[in-house]
Amino acid sequence: MSADKRARMVEWQLRRRGIEDERVLDAMGRVPRELFVPAEARECAYADAALSIGEGQTISQPYMVALICEQLALHGTERILDVGTGSGYQAAVLAQLAREVHTIERLPQLADRARERLEAAGYENVQVHVGDGTLGLPELAPFGAIAIAAAAPGIPQTLYEQLEPRGRLVVPVGGGRGQRLEVAVRSPEGPAVVHSVPCRFVPLIGAEGFGE
Ligand code: SAH
Repeated sequence: MSADKRARMVEWQLRRRGIEDERVLDAMGRVPRELFVPAEARECAYADAALSIGEGQTISQPYMVALICEQLALHGTERILDVGTGSGYQAAVLAQLAREVHTIERLPQLADRARERLEAAGYENVQVHVGDGTLGLPELAPFGAIAIAAAAPGIPQTLYEQLEPRGRLVVPVGGGRGQRLEVAVRSPEGPAVVHSVPCRFVPLIGAEGFGE
């Protein structure tokens, strides 16, 4: 049963690997991940891995989703920007942790599918946008936190500038061989960066990402 698999995922993949934020663990224990993977991969929905979602893209590994959420240090009142909607799973988890989530995807087919899934699952505080997420959503900025689920060459400056003061941005920085998940806090002196764990994401493609 999915609820059992989900509880095991939370215990073995998240808590025992150091995820401590109880709100994050609770959210990961509630979002039905099986709704966000292709039908043929449903059996593997709670595997400790990223899974293919078509168009050459992936739904991130549960641990990475939890780590990104934990690093954002959310309280529940924030308006969030989620760059790289993919399956919509990360947006669904963020929707449990914040007031309002705006998620942006460059591939319209994926955005459409994610929108349908999020609606079917009943998430009313998530809006799916189509476009180049490296440019953010200037008309809706500033955001309390920004999550980027694709690898960037550096901290995207335009996105950093769409953060509220003390707002946090999480982004995998590095090339195709692997990256490090970096957390930048907006401060008057410029981005305060904390390096985190090695990771591997698909590339961020756009004006402030990698070229087409
Ligand atoms: N958070 C997703 C993971 C998706 S993988 C999930 O939970 O399923 C990263 C996604 O970023 C891919 O769908 C890819 O198409 C998208 N992407 C890459 N560059 C982008 C850009 N500049 N703007 C928006 N989305 C982008």
